[in-house]
Amino acid sequence: MNFDQFNLDPRIMEGVRAAGYAVPTPIQSAAIPPALAGHDLIGTAQTGTGKTAAFVLPILQRLLNGPRRRARALIVTPTRELAEQINDTIRALGQGTGLRCATIYGGVPMAPQERALREGVEILVACPGRLLDHIDQGNAKLDGLEVLVLDEADRMFDMGFLPAVRRILSHVPARRQTMLFSATFPAEIEQLAAQALRNPKRVAVGISRPATTVSHALYPVAQHLKTGLTLELLKRTDAHSVLIFTRTKHRASRLAHQLERAGYRVTALHSNRSQNQRQAALDGFRAGKYQIMVATDIAARGIDVERISHVINYDIPDTADAYIHRIGRTDDRARGRPANPAPPRRRLRLRRAAARHPGAARPPARSGAGRRAAAPGAARPAARSP
Ligand code: AMP
Repeated sequence: MNFDQFNLDPRIMEGVRAAGYAVPTPIQSAAIPPALAGHDLIGTAQTGTGKTAAFVLPILQRLLNGPRRRARALIVTPTRELAEQINDTIRALGQGTGLRCATIYGGVPMAPQERALREGVEILVACPGRLLDHIDQGNAKLDGLEVLVLDEADRMFDMGFLPAVRRILSHVPARRQTMLFSATFPAEIEQLAAQALRNPKRVAVGISRPATTVSHALYPVAQHLKTGLTLELLKRTDAHSVLIFTRTKHRASRLAHQLERAGYRVTALHSNRSQNQRQAALDGFRAGKYQIMVATDIAARGIDVERISHVINYDIPDTADAYIHRIGRTDDRARGRPANPAPPRRRLRLRRAAARHPGAARPPARSGAGRRAAAPGAARPAARSP
């Protein structure tokens, strides 16, 4: 995949090449086609994902034709630093287009900004407060606006800018393309999106963060007491479908046998088992034939199981990322749906942990805290199972 697929004007491709971009980032692959087609867009992406170019390239393409020296695209962003970064990206990518850009933010004199606005630029990158000052003083005329970008919307909300953003919305034409980018979607941002966008396409890049519906508990315990504690937790908890992670396949086998002897329906998933055995374990666990599956990270890689009520990290994973992969991620965003409000999810996507950390999961406790063993940690959904 490369940038040719977007059929950008050669003058823009010149900028893409000069910036050294060879391959679009995931958010660019997802966002650029619908943005070029003129759709409104909700993008779930953080700084660092390449989201700036994801909205700048379609803006440049759109503005190549049509009037010059009037504000046709406005990017509203929370901080000066972001405004300057966006401005830099526009200059770099748009260097062959002749399109002009100005930044508007507080803490610097108004006059140069006034001048830029009077002379006429096609793209404005603005922080909300100072832009409103210019609107109120009649310096900024937004009646010819075609594209509005609300960048880092959750941060604007955190910084108390939403009233200002709403006022800005009242000054821009109703007929426009609007793109909203945010890393998270608190209710206020969903409301803003509902107000500002029409039939938006949602695009997202996966962000590793724990599923919001999972609650966590940590039990510090000596190594030799882990099995006893696990049994006790199972006894006291209404745990109908439990996935237990161990560091080694031998430990997975041993624990599975111990739990079986205690009367549980248990299967094990690790790389000492044949492919058929592994598939049977997984199918049986999915279907509820087994209440408990004991697995290593490596064997659990790539599996996708719904309706798990509890995950027990018998051995603590070696990284936060591996932990998140074990207990389940909020991956709605990766599928292009809003991350919040999200229905409680029982789906655990277990992947990559082993790929990223081959031979994974030496518990930090072993190397760091002497023989004090890593605690089994039970993670269970806060909400009750449907
Ligand atoms: P952003 O998330 O927009 O702040 O971009 C993060 C960094 O990635 C910036 O330094 C961009 O110049 C860079 N970048 C954006 N898109 C690409 C790409 N397709 N290839 C390489 N670097 C990129």
